[in-house]
Amino acid sequence: MVEKRTPLPVINAVERVLECALSLGTEKIELEESFGRILAEPIIASSDVPSFDRSPYDGFAIRSVDSVGATGDNRIAFKVIDHIGAGEVSTKKLAAFTAIRIMTGAQLPEGADAVVMFEQSVETEESMTIRKPFKALENVSLQGEDLRKNEVVINSGSYINPGTIALLATFGYSQVLVAKQPFVGILSTGTELLAVNEELEPGKIRNSNGPMIVAQLKRMGIRCKMYGISIDQLDESYEVVKKAATETDCLITTGGVSVGDFDFLPAIYERLGAEVLFNKVAMRPGSVTTVAVANGRYLFGLSGNPSACFTGFELFVRPALLKMMSASKPYLPHTTARLGENFTKANPFTRFVRALYDGKIVSPAGFNKSNAVSSIARGNALIVLPGGTRGYQSGDLVDVLLLGMEEGSDKWKL
Ligand code: AMP
Ligand code: MG
Repeated sequence: MVEKRTPLPVINAVERVLECALSLGTEKIELEESFGRILAEPIIASSDVPSFDRSPYDGFAIRSVDSVGATGDNRIAFKVIDHIGAGEVSTKKLAAFTAIRIMTGAQLPEGADAVVMFEQSVETEESMTIRKPFKALENVSLQGEDLRKNEVVINSGSYINPGTIALLATFGYSQVLVAKQPFVGILSTGTELLAVNEELEPGKIRNSNGPMIVAQLKRMGIRCKMYGISIDQLDESYEVVKKAATETDCLITTGGVSVGDFDFLPAIYERLGAEVLFNKVAMRPGSVTTVAVANGRYLFGLSGNPSACFTGFELFVRPALLKMMSASKPYLPHTTARLGENFTKANPFTRFVRALYDGKIVSPAGFNKSNAVSSIARGNALIVLPGGTRGYQSGDLVDVLLLGMEEGSDKWKL
């Protein structure tokens, strides 16, 4: 008899997965290695930024009081008494109607409170003249204008982007405390599967899910081990799953989670004594997506159908891995957009449609069955169409989940 499964709403399923996330602890790594990792300590400003008043331009440091009354007909002259570049500090103090030639980034000399840009001055041999008054602090980059000492600049749990690296470098972190990353195993199940380098045979297909998941992990910067292909045979699959589950923090299997005669993952979970969090989700594709936990480790049973497999990874595996790293934003980025074409196929379950989002309009990315491979490659987003009896019309406002945000864009039409 076919087992009766109760579908769980997607959002509840995601929550249930996240609740089980085990933290992996933290490690200190070199700053240069930290891009893409999750910060495990808040970054606190150890100094003001900038830490001294400085010139944001190449020009002349002056006392603004000396510039009062300057006009085109009444140019005021300043004697240039010193010349400093970035990194140099003048030993001179400005007296009335003197100026110091100063380059971008150099510390403002004592007495100076304004900077005249080169283009605002006319130079002579030993002096320069100006034709307008300067206000106090005009053209000055003030100490602490960017960040204040002791300010919490970035919270723990943040993704380390290139800007975060710049901040860490600014505050002298040559090493940084980050969350340890999960080590993930991938096992593709299915007697029909061939390795990528094998010739097609009748009834067989190449394993596309395995390499796809490696790439999905890679774009999160996460390491993994491929356990290859396992045929649909209970004992054999059980042994591989058992081994893989102990060697990794999280095992992703593809295929074999449905209720077919050769779908052995449910029996394998039972043998392992795993707690099945759910084995049916109210979504298309991938309603058979199953998530279990054994010995504090995740077992993700993704559907073998490529589109379902892809979607299951993005909806469940990705946030779970991020939660294991205590990331403060484990969910996929999302937005809303106008649907670019009608989508009339109604469904009781929430539908995730692989789609192309151009910043304004989102349109299905072609062939959209759960076994589709092409639309995964062509899409950069998932349209979320809540279940119900009605279809959707071109122009409807829909939710969109954004994928692979680190990817580039076509030529700009700004
Ligand atoms: P299953 O989830 O095992 O019922 O498989 C559903 C569909 O996905 C079947 O048509 C399988 O042949 C196909 N499939 C299963 N595993 C893979 C894989 N690793 N790569 C590509 N297609 C697969
Ligand atoms: Mg199968």
